[in-house]
Parts: sequence; C-alpha cells; structure tokens
Amino acid sequence: MTTIILKPHKEESLKRFHPWVFSGAIARIVLDAAHKAAAPEEGELVCVESANGETLGVGHWQVGSIAVRILEFGVSALPADFWEKRIRAAYQVRESLGLVSNLNDTFRLVHGEGDWLPGLIVDVYADTAVVQAHSVGMHLCRKAVAEAIVTVVPQVENVYYKSDDTLPFKAAIEGEKVGYLIRNTDIPSSRDAEEFWSTENGLEFRIDWLKGQKTGFFVDQRENRALVERYAAGKEVLNMFCYTGGFSLYALRGGAKRVDSVDVSQKAIDLVNANVAHNFPKAKNHTAVTADAFEYLTAQKNAGRTFDLIILDPPAFAKHRDAVKNALRGYQRINAKAIEMIRPGGILFTFSCSQAVDKEAFRLAVFSAAASVGRKVRILHQLHQPQDHPINIYHPEGEYLKGLVLYIE
Ligand code: SAH
Repeated sequence: MTTIILKPHKEESLKRFHPWVFSGAIARIVLDAAHKAAAPEEGELVCVESANGETLGVGHWQVGSIAVRILEFGVSALPADFWEKRIRAAYQVRESLGLVSNLNDTFRLVHGEGDWLPGLIVDVYADTAVVQAHSVGMHLCRKAVAEAIVTVVPQVENVYYKSDDTLPFKAAIEGEKVGYLIRNTDIPSSRDAEEFWSTENGLEFRIDWLKGQKTGFFVDQRENRALVERYAAGKEVLNMFCYTGGFSLYALRGGAKRVDSVDVSQKAIDLVNANVAHNFPKAKNHTAVTADAFEYLTAQKNAGRTFDLIILDPPAFAKHRDAVKNALRGYQRINAKAIEMIRPGGILFTFSCSQAVDKEAFRLAVFSAAASVGRKVRILHQLHQPQDHPINIYHPEGEYLKGLVLYIE
C-alpha cells in the first residue's frame, strides 16, 4: 500500500480523530511497487504515517485540498470484515435509538463522517437502501458497502446506487454511477414509481429515488415534522418548499384546519398530492400549488392572506463559502415575507440546510428579517438535524441543518 508521510506535528488532528488529511500537511509520498504513475490514484487506499514513522491510519486518497479521508485510525491495513462491522455499528445506533420499527422504516443508516464513513451516505426506505458516494474511494467500494447493508439490515433487500450528482465531477470514474447494486428479482420493476411506500412515524410516503431529489426523501426533518404536528391543531398552515409534503402530512395528522403546500417543482406537487390522498383519503382541507416561493408569498400578501403557522424549508441557498453573503440576504428576504403574513400569536418554523451558513449567521438573518417588518418575535425552539444524522464531535463540519421556531406577536 502507498504510504503518506506527514510533516512534523501534522499528526495531531488525526490523533484527535479528525478524519481528514489536508494536502498541505503531507511531507512525502512513498508509492507501492504496483504504481506506474508518479502519484497515488484517486480513490485508492493509503496508509498515513507521522514524521517519526508512527502509523496513524488508513483512508481513501483524494485529489484536492482534502488528500486523505480516514476510514480507520491506528492501523496500516483495513480488516477483512471492515465494511460489515462499520455498517453494523451504524445500524445498531439507529436500532438502539428506536428508529427501526413497523411505525418507522425510514431512516439514515450512514451519515458520512458522523458514522466514521467519510464520503458515504445511505438512506433506508422500507426494503430499499439508497447509497450515495461523495468520493471516488467510496465509489470503488460500493459493492462491498451494498453487500454489508443487506447482510446487516434485516429489512433491506435492494440497494440502489445514486452518485451521478455527488461524485467529484473532475474525476475519471470507472463503472456506473447509477443503478441497482443488489436487486431482489421478485420485485417488479413497475413498483418503483407506483406502489412503493415507506413509513415515517406511522405516515406513509411514496419515495422516488430514481427521479427524486437527493436520495429521494429528506429524512433529516423527521423530528422537526413531529414538532409541527404538536402545534398544528386548528391552525391554518402554509408549508413552503414542501417537496414530498412531509410537514404537510404531519400538520394534517395534528388536526390543522387547513394546509397549503407550495413547491416550484410540479413533480414535487404530484408527490404531495399522492401522499395526502394515500394517508388522508377524505381530506378536503389540503391544497398544493406549483409556484416560486418568493412570487407566491408576494401574491398571497397582496391578496391579504394570513396564516397561523408557516414552515420555510428552502434548499441550501449557499452551496459554497463564497455564496454565503447572498444566501444570508435570501434568508432575510424570505423570512421577512413569511413573518409579515403570520397572524398575531402565530408560529414560524424556519430552516437553513446550508452547511456554509452557521447557526449564528442564520439567526442574525432571521433577526434582521423580524426587525425589518417590525414584529415582536421570540424563539421557542432551536432545531437541528436528527439523531440518525449524527455530528462527529471531532468533525464539526458535519453540522448543517438548523432551524428556529418563532412566536410572532
Ligand atoms: N421541506 C421538504 C424538503 C425541502 S427541499 C421536506 O420536508 O421534505 C427544498 C424544496 O424547495 C425542493 O422540493 C425544491 O423543488 C423547492 N424549491 C427550490 N427552489 C424553490 C423556489 N424558488 N420556490 C419554491 N420551491 C422551491
């Protein structure tokens, strides 16, 4: 195996279990004999050593400023049962937290660095796991990952791989980026679109991993949706950026008087309507609208409409650090529009899933929004990503979802 030798003192963050080696920390690279090229190949397993020869761990080599993502600390080779053990450890966490039951078969099984598996995301939907690789190393290990998932997770029979949007776009990648890695042949192919339901807290969702966004569903809002259910009774609710209608279904179950769901994507609106019809076949108090959020809020305001409870869960406004300033302006604008339309005594659930926008910056943007429309606002809850999206304490970069629940006078 190729060995990466660090500069003096650059081993310290690895000893504290931070899983990345930056390219600037590398003193030299000792290629193993099999190499023809002058550098390691993207995705290959490498061993990392300190300047004085101490073994620090094994990880995937990457091209870019993060040069190695560590899979196992303190070893010079991965054990043969590595994938099964690591996936089992991840599954046991979800099981022990009560996330796996006949009322809930929808959960994130692997959350990258948060499960000591940098570059890997796995979401489980009933009998199907959807795998996303964010590194070439994980792409090369996809078959071993898929096998470990079906071995470990009793409910999973199919593993679908969906990495066309997540792999580094410059890398030369061999093999398919999309398709089933394991497929139970008894399942008809027509099922994908029409007959598949996954259960979250007793509500059933149609999940389209083939054409849907990300792995097909936003598992990360489960606990926050449950909080909406608690506050929904008798309220007129507006769910902005609704996607599959997660918040809408919980609001309906919580006894909302009326729920309006809005998304710019017609496919999303079709999913919301299918999900509402399936869970609440008699509901007459739900409306779904295909519209741009900013235009919709402006039009509703001009029409004099108000709401008791609004949910704002936009896509990441900042995908990179250099987009943060514009993103904050976007958060401020959309929150100001929402706060204006909330009746006195109403509630706003507002979120940011931009990793580059931290809690404080987001709170400041919402503060500016509240101040700009002159309403008295108090914070009732500070929300974040749920327990199946754990944040590795040595890798705070894994924190991305934050939310505020506001009481608007
Ligand atoms: N709240 C959802 C997840 C939201 S993801 C849930 O609980 O599952 C963000 C959604 O915003 C996507 O469905 C996307 O189609 C939608 N979107 C993106 N830009 C938009 C815009 N300008 N107006 C309305 N919706 C938009």
